[in-house]
Amino acid sequence: MSITLFCARRIITMDPSLPEATHIAVQDGKILAVGPLEELRDLGEYHLDDRFAGKVILPGFVEGHSHALEGAMWQYLYLGYFPRRDPKGVCWNGITSLAAMQQRLREHAAALPAGEPMVAWGFDPVYFEGVRLNREVLDQAVNDRPLVIFHASLHVMTVNSRMLEYARLEQHAGMEGIMLGSDGRPNGELQEMAAMHGVFDALGRNLFEEVSSLSTLQAYGEVARRVGVTTITDLYNPLTDTGIAALQEITSLPGCPVRLVPAMAALSWTSEQGIERLQACRNMGNDKLHFGLVKLMTDGSIQGYTARMQWPGYHDGHPNGIWNAPPETLHQLVLDYHQAGLQLHIHTNGDEAVELILDAIEDAQTLWPRADHRHTLQHCQFISQAQLRRAARLGVCLNMFANHIYYWGDIHRQKTLGFSRSRRLEPLASALRLNIPTAIHSDAPVTPLGPLFTAWCAVQRQTASGASLGEAERISVADALHMITLGAAYTLRLDHLVGSLEVGKYADMVILDEDPLEQDAARLRDIGIHATVVGGEVYEND
Ligand SMILES: [Zn+2]
Repeated sequence: MSITLFCARRIITMDPSLPEATHIAVQDGKILAVGPLEELRDLGEYHLDDRFAGKVILPGFVEGHSHALEGAMWQYLYLGYFPRRDPKGVCWNGITSLAAMQQRLREHAAALPAGEPMVAWGFDPVYFEGVRLNREVLDQAVNDRPLVIFHASLHVMTVNSRMLEYARLEQHAGMEGIMLGSDGRPNGELQEMAAMHGVFDALGRNLFEEVSSLSTLQAYGEVARRVGVTTITDLYNPLTDTGIAALQEITSLPGCPVRLVPAMAALSWTSEQGIERLQACRNMGNDKLHFGLVKLMTDGSIQGYTARMQWPGYHDGHPNGIWNAPPETLHQLVLDYHQAGLQLHIHTNGDEAVELILDAIEDAQTLWPRADHRHTLQHCQFISQAQLRRAARLGVCLNMFANHIYYWGDIHRQKTLGFSRSRRLEPLASALRLNIPTAIHSDAPVTPLGPLFTAWCAVQRQTASGASLGEAERISVADALHMITLGAAYTLRLDHLVGSLEVGKYADMVILDEDPLEQDAARLRDIGIHATVVGGEVYEND
């Protein structure tokens, strides 16, 4: 088969034996050789592709924690606090007051067919101190059709009165999760799945099931491609039969610009069913589809006050958070999946959740020792030094939510964690000192997908207000780049296939306009993504 030789100003490989080069040879979608042109001439006949001659090539970015839901959200109206760019490149202003929100809702409703239900997303109550979004606020903006607004956490929604009627929720007042106003009637806020289901039933669609649709996956791949990602997770996939079929179909289409790594949502199945399902999936993947991971949810989020905290709890005295399942159940699920030889990715936001899972992994390792389990704590946002040392001893990997520093760092400093604990938000330098395999992530759609931005957060540790948060945990640009490539690939057990530019691995690259190692670190997030290459196929950004 023919050989293509790409050349660049600089190729940063993440291969310690050959850290940089100017040329990379690709054959059959894989890397055949890396080096200077003079040394690669003996490969035989090749075609020289010099369109990236002035650019910088890195291994394609690997996003180790995001959700295919990102591909579904933009068919709905954006109401987030921060400006955000949609997949078409349109930048939406942030919504910073309820009046601005009402205005955007009115404008959007005016463009929809009469009576059609309306869906919006991204509202973050933590930024609206002293005011509570309720049905009255929404009724003032839209009262001619049912309206639902998903909060940024996706664990809560607020609906207008028409939606309460449409979904017949007034009649179920008293059910857990249907919040009531001072008049004893539902106030429009619906918390967690049971309460939200009434709305899904009325709409005839469940947002969380849209990850099984081809159009969602297509949009997701497109969002990922634009920001330089070539391998992407869907870290909470129910892995239903339809969902699996959709993943297989999208990854078999020519021109699929990403490799997809779904993690099975453990709480959707009993462990017996889940283990059987994943074992059955083992032969259902392809070059661009990799099964095998299990995702377990433990607590909620810090900014939503639903994370489980150790003493002294929330800085502002808010009551402790919630478990997604009884702690004994979570402990048992870790034992079951570990014993079955599977790899767990475990959502742990608060330090009490981290402790529970470290206990469970320690028990699992005592009962059924495994040398290379790579169980990964996801988020582990303010994991303590003792917990870090324990994670290192147990062979646990970490994937930290670096974007949190920017988006909620100010909130954590003032409200949820206070000064001391906000210093150790995403303690990346400590994880490196202990040689713990570590990655960083966006958790899109919770925050926007963009590995260079995520790396910038880890390096700069700057909050949205411009304050610097915990300088002692800053890491270097080189370390941050490692975390969004080979570091993330390692946590996905794909480091033999992607994450670095080495002979035999997939020819997956990101082409940057500037050299991140030469630029001022403060500009990391501004570096342009020129193109990606996946299996030797070039995808240029317009
Ligand atoms: Zn997530």
